[in-house]
Amino acid sequence: MKKLFILSSFLLSVGASVFAQHPAAKRLMEQTPLLVKHQNIPVLINPNPTHAQATGNQTLVLKTYTESNVGKHYLYQQMHDGLPIYGAYLKVNTNKKGDVLNSFSTLVDVTSLNIESGDVLNHQYWVISDKELLLAKAQQDGHVFTLKQQDGTTLFEKDKRLFFTDTVVKARVFNPDPLTTAGVTYGKDGTYRNFNDSDYALLNDQRKWVSFPAQYDNGLFHLKNKYAAITNLKSPNYTPSTSTIDTFDFTRKQIGFKEVMAMYHISQVQAFIQSLGFDNLVNYQLKVDPHSSTADQSYFTYDPDTSLHFGLGGVPDAEDADVIVHEYTHAISHSLNPGDAIGTERRALEEAICDAMCCAYSKRINPFLWKNIFGWDGHNEFWNGRDGASNKTYDNKVGDFYSDSEIWSSAMNNLSEKMGEDVLIKLLLSIIPQLTPNSTMPQAAQLMYDTDSIIYNSQNRWLLAEEFVARKLGDFYTGVKELVLDEKMSIYNTFGFANGTAPTSIKPNQNGTFDVKLFDVNGKLILSKNNINQLDLNPNDFSLGMYVLHITYNGQTGYLKLSRQQ
Ligand SMILES: [Zn+2]
Repeated sequence: MKKLFILSSFLLSVGASVFAQHPAAKRLMEQTPLLVKHQNIPVLINPNPTHAQATGNQTLVLKTYTESNVGKHYLYQQMHDGLPIYGAYLKVNTNKKGDVLNSFSTLVDVTSLNIESGDVLNHQYWVISDKELLLAKAQQDGHVFTLKQQDGTTLFEKDKRLFFTDTVVKARVFNPDPLTTAGVTYGKDGTYRNFNDSDYALLNDQRKWVSFPAQYDNGLFHLKNKYAAITNLKSPNYTPSTSTIDTFDFTRKQIGFKEVMAMYHISQVQAFIQSLGFDNLVNYQLKVDPHSSTADQSYFTYDPDTSLHFGLGGVPDAEDADVIVHEYTHAISHSLNPGDAIGTERRALEEAICDAMCCAYSKRINPFLWKNIFGWDGHNEFWNGRDGASNKTYDNKVGDFYSDSEIWSSAMNNLSEKMGEDVLIKLLLSIIPQLTPNSTMPQAAQLMYDTDSIIYNSQNRWLLAEEFVARKLGDFYTGVKELVLDEKMSIYNTFGFANGTAPTSIKPNQNGTFDVKLFDVNGKLILSKNNINQLDLNPNDFSLGMYVLHITYNGQTGYLKLSRQQ
């Protein structure tokens, strides 16, 4: 179905009180004009779910409110003259305290549209059509929902079956690829090769049982769900697989095997990003053709319609979750920021973001060689793949976007190793809406550093600064690192803390937690925390004087004097 609206989805980082303080936040606002337009959004966050409020010309009504492990989630419906504007929403996600983490908007500026005059009471919705706001009647006919004009013209139609009859089916897939689960590299002892996409036993043995949502209709299970539909878009032609039972069991050389690979891994990426709080991305049924050509090439396209295509050449692309996740991340990126990537560096960033996602995805399943990008599809006689463990710095840039992408993807993989893939991917997705068609890697590094200050309260600033400085992506303050507790713990920036210019941080050199107690010079306990990964102390919270920290890590206690001088 053709999409009726151009929905612009952007990150709105409007942490009410936090926002005003951060120079980073101010810079983000300046760079993103839309943010400024909506900077009064925090007043909308109202616990009363029936209350409607106006912001400029936009009237919003709270439509849904949910709570999760991340925080609170508000979905507002835009209204005009008492009727909802179909598809015009504002989603605001906050942490548990109510500080805004991010928000996504498809709100429209009603004043820029020609508004149809008519009897509002006789209609249920407004529909945006080109530059017009049209009155529409809603109709539910069986499974089909339509919005029609007074004269009967259909403005919008949706078959709700695709969204309401999802069930769960079982299938066997490579997860993420046969080499990872076998723990071998391509061609080991002459085995584990492509063998012309045949049913070679060692490869078939690496298929794993999984399950994913699929559509059930009239006695048949279809490879379609809310996020993807296997569709024959291009030659070689085939009929998408269906099943009379809830199981799709194919061997590797069968076409159906590529179909279930695509369905399963796309569904899993959606589940992953939703677990990070991104529940509004690629929020439609994307057409996916897992045998779209005989070439060794896959792509995402959004013109004229969004679709994913996988080639069969070399190792068939849809047999490697890396390729599926990479291409699907292009769709995610397009959903976050519909602009075209124009500059070579921006294109390198785009490829690197997709590669970093497939590395993080692989690492979550099985860390074996997770930094090998396209571990099964590439790194073989057909193609070298890409290296997500490269030491390249920004100085090694050559002007080829695939080659240069390794600078950024390898930096992301190092960060994923240190801060965990969830934090890394959340930061990475959060910078996408802020990128322009010509963003450079140093600009992206600065955005990531700033975004960390907004969504993670700068918790990751030392790790980001170290990595970006090492990659020559900018001049970031890396803090003064001192070692305590027999080099098992590091303390950063006691000098900045002492003179009141910057916070100090204490954290273990390895992963792990510690307990800490802070006493003032009279021995009075000021602060006590257990099982923390990092302690950040802001000099503004301390009066001048000496302090003593008791740090207990792995059963060993160390003491540290901290001074706050001016
Ligand atoms: Zn790509």
